[in-house]
Amino acid sequence: MNNNLTVLEINSAAVKHNLQYFKSKIQENTKILVVVKAFGYGSNAIEIAKIIQNDVAYFAVAYTHEGIALKNAKIKTPILVLHPQMTDLDCIIKYGLEPNLYSTRILKAFLTLADAQNLIDNSIHIEFNTGLNRLGFLENDIKNISSILKEKKTVKVNSIFSHLVASEDKNEREFSIKQIAKFENIANAFEKHLGFKPMMHITNTSGIINYSQAHFDMVRLGIGLYGFANDKKETSQLKNVMSLKSVISQIHQIEKGESIGYNRALIANNFMKTATIPIGHSDGIHRNLGKGKGFVTINNQKAFIVGNVCMDMTMIDITHIDCKEGDQVIIFNNQNTVEELAKISHTISYEVLTAISQRVKRIVK
Ligand SMILES: *Cc1c(COP(=O)(O)O)cnc(C)c1O
Repeated sequence: MNNNLTVLEINSAAVKHNLQYFKSKIQENTKILVVVKAFGYGSNAIEIAKIIQNDVAYFAVAYTHEGIALKNAKIKTPILVLHPQMTDLDCIIKYGLEPNLYSTRILKAFLTLADAQNLIDNSIHIEFNTGLNRLGFLENDIKNISSILKEKKTVKVNSIFSHLVASEDKNEREFSIKQIAKFENIANAFEKHLGFKPMMHITNTSGIINYSQAHFDMVRLGIGLYGFANDKKETSQLKNVMSLKSVISQIHQIEKGESIGYNRALIANNFMKTATIPIGHSDGIHRNLGKGKGFVTINNQKAFIVGNVCMDMTMIDITHIDCKEGDQVIIFNNQNTVEELAKISHTISYEVLTAISQRVKRIVK
């Protein structure tokens, strides 16, 4: 039935399996936060949240509007907004989202708003920068921020967290261990100044795998839930969540000497058969997969991309494949993996998944 369009299939059993796999790696009293930013890594954040909402302690999104979408879908699990902007703070409060307050500027702005609205114990989170140099307070901000926060009845620091720089890279193990130690020192000092102990968390997917000593009160699972673990052995334990499928719109017989696609990027040396599929670079088929670098499969046979990938379409070489218009084309699935595609495009699985455009229909199975 879905054979006649481009669809991204989401396998809900695989999502559940992957969550269970990571749960088996953590202590029973360690909480799990699942990251559903960027439309659930390109899948469908709301559908993912619905599948696992009763099995996780938290969801996290990058931006406020992503959190609002989950709230509008009646997701009741607490939602941490990792990267709120100054202009969002009203909405954060209105929708009951929990902000990461990562700088003095945004912390003060939030506290001013919290005072004005007479909030009581509104949950907030504080991020510390232990080496990524992306967001967060530094160790020597502790005194200052704890004096700002001390005795505040309007807000409650629910957690403090940090983010690892290279949790997947075994060559950077020493650095990661230093980051973890730094985070523990910060947590201890913060607790002393503040007079109570917020939750602590630092590990992402690869951190969960490689630094079990640093799971602390909660772990933050992202890419692993979607079936990738930045590690062959670990990934082999996971189930593929997303499959991208398309269809043959039209077949062309190409005579020797004819060119195919924009800028005549391929000129046929011999007779060729090509198929046009309805998905292009604006949908996440990276243009550098063109000119024979990337491939799709039809009946388990590889069909390489010919010429330049177009915005909405891609042409593939089916000279030696027995197929017809309307047949299914697999761009990636459990066999044609996202990681292989990522390697050919010189990027990572994260980028391949999140690049799939919103006009591609998502189907939950
Ligand atoms: C995206 C993100 C994660 C998830 O990382 P994965 O490598 O996908 O598990 C965790 N924490 C923060 C702060 C993030 O931005």
